[in-house]
Amino acid sequence: MIRLKEAEKISSIEIFDEVARLEHEQVVFCYDAATGLKAIIAIHNTVLGPSLGGTRMWNYQNEQEAITDALRLSRGMTFKASISALNLGGGKAVIIGDASKIKNEALLRRFGRFIDNLGGKYVTAEDVNMSPLDMEYISMETRHVTGLSESLGGGGDPSPVTAYGVYVGMKACAQKIYGRDSLENRKIAVQGAGHVGMYLIEHLVNEGAIVYVSDIYPERVQQAVDKFKVIPVGSDEIYDLDLDIYAPCALGATLNDETLERLKCAIIAGAANNQLKDENYHGDVILKKGIIYAPDFLINAGGLINVGIDYLGGWSKERVNRKVEQIYDTTLDILRLSDKEGINTQAAAIRLAMKRIREIGQVKSAL
Ligand code: NAD
Repeated sequence: MIRLKEAEKISSIEIFDEVARLEHEQVVFCYDAATGLKAIIAIHNTVLGPSLGGTRMWNYQNEQEAITDALRLSRGMTFKASISALNLGGGKAVIIGDASKIKNEALLRRFGRFIDNLGGKYVTAEDVNMSPLDMEYISMETRHVTGLSESLGGGGDPSPVTAYGVYVGMKACAQKIYGRDSLENRKIAVQGAGHVGMYLIEHLVNEGAIVYVSDIYPERVQQAVDKFKVIPVGSDEIYDLDLDIYAPCALGATLNDETLERLKCAIIAGAANNQLKDENYHGDVILKKGIIYAPDFLINAGGLINVGIDYLGGWSKERVNRKVEQIYDTTLDILRLSDKEGINTQAAAIRLAMKRIREIGQVKSAL
């Protein structure tokens, strides 16, 4: 008989507490001695459809951190899919380990077999430290994978689609606050001139906005300056600018006690995941300051819409764009609900996402 050490007993009990608290349907631990694979697949909710979410490979400090990441991220995917009107649920997978040391074809294909065993309840895609080639290896063992490169018949790079959704969501916020959605002459700061940031900058400049750009890599800022004639700003300076719109497109948690004290803007709308350091508390701080916050999981859903439609079938650029353009009306719905109920926009977005899951769940159980 295998005896658990005291610490392992405690942490396993806590895992179930957390699974119950966050309301996951299933959490799968995948272990394979031959390849060294250690992965966790968290299936949060499949009421609307198969749970879709990328696989992240990360050298976590400990296993608890990996579990927390998988549970938290998969729950976020449920909200994102529901609010985007996709027939998909929320899931996420993490592979524990240093990608540069342990990632190889055998490990990825073994992981693919674990996904396949779930019979389509979980569908994977690219995330941190995973490449199109890695997805190709996984797809050799399971068809429940999406986000393949265009050369393999997939929808390709999600960043331009994500940027378009952020742009559309930003315009809806402008409509609400200024009574017109033009961004011409609006002062907008884009934090992070990465994959999404650069495409967003292009939309904003084309519309005549005055765009400020920061990045921790000066060469990326310079690239934006050369290409789009934007105004370069320092990584810290960005929080003290006099702005209409702040667009976080780099890291999470940039909306926190310190930055919210400094930010002077009317709208916050960007691509970064988990922008609010504390979802409830900082959502309320923003509401009290009279700033309009476009929920990140709504306006950055373009990438999910792209891979989601790719998986569900009938992908075309036009269809994806039409779905992404719905972000405009959904943003306005959320802002109205926030006004009506006096709740912050993040809470309003979660409420709408859960409402759809409840309603469609009832439709499905009635059949
Ligand atoms: P990316 O890595 O290509 O770009 C991020 C950029 O931010 C990099 O250039 C990086 O140097 C910069 N950066 C990091 N720290 C910074 C700081 N403190 N100040 C200024 N710049 C900083 O990533 P991406 O694909 O463009 O994604 C941007 C954000 O959007 C991420 O949070 C990502 O999780 C989220 N997101 C991306 C997609 C997508 O389709 N790529 C979809 C949904 C959400």
